[in-house]
Amino acid sequence: MRYYSLNNKSHKVSFEEAVVAGLAPDKGLYFPESITPLPDSFFANIENLSHEEIAFEAIRQFVGNAIPEPELKRIIAETLCFHFPCVPVEDNVFSLELFHGPTMAFKDVGARFMSRCLAYFNRNDNKQVTVLVATSGDTGGAVASGFLGVKGVEVIILYPSGKVSDIQERQLTTLGQNIKALEVDGVFDDCQDMVKKGFLDDSLKHKNLTSANSINIARWLPQMFYIFFVYQQLKKHNKPIILSCPSGNFGNICAGIMAKKLGLPISHFVASTNVNDTVPRFLEKGSYDPKPSIATISNAMDVGNPSNFIRIQELYNNDLSEFEKDFSSYSYTDSETEATIKDLYNRTKYIAEPHGAVGYLGLKKEMAKHPNSIGVFLETAHPIKFLDTVEPLLDLKLPIPTQIESVLGKDKVKTKIKTYEEFKSFLR
Ligand SMILES: *Cc1c(COP(=O)(O)O)cnc(C)c1O
Repeated sequence: MRYYSLNNKSHKVSFEEAVVAGLAPDKGLYFPESITPLPDSFFANIENLSHEEIAFEAIRQFVGNAIPEPELKRIIAETLCFHFPCVPVEDNVFSLELFHGPTMAFKDVGARFMSRCLAYFNRNDNKQVTVLVATSGDTGGAVASGFLGVKGVEVIILYPSGKVSDIQERQLTTLGQNIKALEVDGVFDDCQDMVKKGFLDDSLKHKNLTSANSINIARWLPQMFYIFFVYQQLKKHNKPIILSCPSGNFGNICAGIMAKKLGLPISHFVASTNVNDTVPRFLEKGSYDPKPSIATISNAMDVGNPSNFIRIQELYNNDLSEFEKDFSSYSYTDSETEATIKDLYNRTKYIAEPHGAVGYLGLKKEMAKHPNSIGVFLETAHPIKFLDTVEPLLDLKLPIPTQIESVLGKDKVKTKIKTYEEFKSFLR
């Protein structure tokens, strides 16, 4: 399988080159040259397959011969080391809980898969790479945990001082080994700017810098796995399935649409956003007009210009009317989100965190248009990661899960920086 740059379709590379580089040299996102649907027999038999078997069928064509089958199967088994339950919340509504992994956010899946691909490509010790990540909270922890101890990979995480929660900071700063944390005197955008500048800096070429966010195909594509698991669990209901993803960079929903292109019967997708509403505005007004991001309580979705939206358009050959048959997008304010967390708890005892609550709101809105359907919203993180919002709203204390407890007692190790020059000298 080859991948082309969405900025220049004649620039093509292998799976390995696309994973190692992250972005094409022209800054375009990589996209697979072909997408072949899976046979009907696969979907007819899906309830009899294991998670590993489903994931292998979903991704094998995209990896091609870059990784031998037994190695790919091992990578998948190590990636899927936790559960993905579709929990009933109310009549016909399910929460796909993606937070049972090591850092309690869905990004564990992509981070674990990508890190193991890089380790395979570095098996002969010849391709030392440095993964740079700017994080507003969740991504950094998943990447730190996913890449811990991976041979040939050094990970450098930049986070804004005082802007991530104590738990999130501990997830970034307490692991040691090949994981280094930089506490930046600034905001998230300052971290992001340093990373972007680093990628363009010729004096850092020898570091083989790559990125571990959903622009990287090895982080994006494995996010299809759990959308297949939704169908495996809900097929027995024999009703159209609507899927709502709380969306920031639109990586999850783009993976869901890719799964549909492989034949997965999801009838409709909803991208639910907070007030960072570039895509809902696009669908309403027809013009794509990104704006600087606004801070909200669902901060992992505070994205003004979602990077994967261009891939979604490519999946529909840029045909807006085809796209709109399958896809809706709605935005919600923080006060609507808070009211929903309370309402869900009072009616059903289900504890949602802000991202999941936004997903729930978009799902309900779409389901009202399709009365015979069932719906799933993604619960993308565990409520404990947003305890400052959830506990006072519900007037309760959340028990601390073991994954979080294990980082609480450890000392934070980090380097404070302020300027790009300081960042660069740290890298050297
Ligand atoms: C990253 C993240 C999102 C947004 O996911 P995208 O794939 O970027 O749309 C939503 N919720 C949580 C908790 C996240 O960490």
